[in-house]
Amino acid sequence: MAILVTGGAGFIGSHTCVELLNAGEDIVVMDNFYNSNSRALDGIRKITGKDFKFYEDDMLDIAAVDQIFAENDIEQVIHFAGYKCVPESVQKPLMYYSNNLRGTFNILETMKKYGCTKFVFSSSATVYGIPATVPVKEDFPLSAINPYGSTKLIIENLCREMYAADNTWTMILLRYFNPVGAHESGLIGEDPNGIPNNLMPYLTQVAVGRLPYLNIFGNDYPTPDGTCVRDYIHVVDLAVGHVKALKKLEEKPEVRVYNLGTGHGYSVLDVVHAFEKACGHEVKYQIKPRRAGDIAMCYCDPTKAKEELGWEAQYGIEEMCQDSWRWQSQNPDGYATEEK
Ligand code: UDP
Repeated sequence: MAILVTGGAGFIGSHTCVELLNAGEDIVVMDNFYNSNSRALDGIRKITGKDFKFYEDDMLDIAAVDQIFAENDIEQVIHFAGYKCVPESVQKPLMYYSNNLRGTFNILETMKKYGCTKFVFSSSATVYGIPATVPVKEDFPLSAINPYGSTKLIIENLCREMYAADNTWTMILLRYFNPVGAHESGLIGEDPNGIPNNLMPYLTQVAVGRLPYLNIFGNDYPTPDGTCVRDYIHVVDLAVGHVKALKKLEEKPEVRVYNLGTGHGYSVLDVVHAFEKACGHEVKYQIKPRRAGDIAMCYCDPTKAKEELGWEAQYGIEEMCQDSWRWQSQNPDGYATEEK
């Protein structure tokens, strides 16, 4: 019996593979390396001292997905695979809908064919659209404000409708807030394609000298220091959340939804200052106009995950910055860095 991890070489996927292997689980990993690197798999093996089966496949290839199920006794699926860049999704909506939805249909259809009914889905805080208040709770109204968010919301709704039609399914939807950090070994971490879109990888690339300065998008928001506030969460905490969700999958068929965040909000400037402390030098930044689509404040109420999954974030902003810096300073060019 194994757990299929789609997108297992990606940022959150690779850290989750480590926690699953450390918890003694048997995993089968699938990834097409679109936005990931085979060196993440080496990192997972090195950190855990364990091996696992890997398939370099695309979820759009249903015959390949079928073969994975035919060759392995897959009992649960954790589905990370998908495009994840919000601005790119605004530029290329069809590409996002096509890949994220068709890929997920292939995974779910194949699960159904093989009688595998336990599914954990990587959702996102973006499904709350522009929340009226913070902290955000799981029962807040949902809406999509960009094509990436639309794909998350459509898949969430599909899961609820599949369960309504056939209540043998167990679906757990995990809504991530802002994942940052890296494994403390410095062997795996975030390595986005091209110029980073998210704050932490941009910040680490400025600190390591790959980019000249950070652009801070707006300092006139209604927040304590005028910069946007987010709920940053250490990727290892997030990974542990998936191990807890798997235990929950075993209880009874239903659809469950959890926020995975710390419940604490930090402004962009808070993160910059915490990061400067971690890396030991100043990080240059410039204040720029607001970025389209950004909301002033977003942080969650993580109580439900604590009560029902027994999960709570362990790491604070200091560790998030230290671990992000360790990864970036040891691997200035990410996975493309030459091994010494
Ligand atoms: N941000 C920034 N400069 C950057 C990237 C992000 O000032 O180069 C800000 C962004 O405006 C937002 C926060 O950092 O307020 C988090 O942005 P990110 O893209 O990491 O995550 P989001 O919350 O948008 O999903």
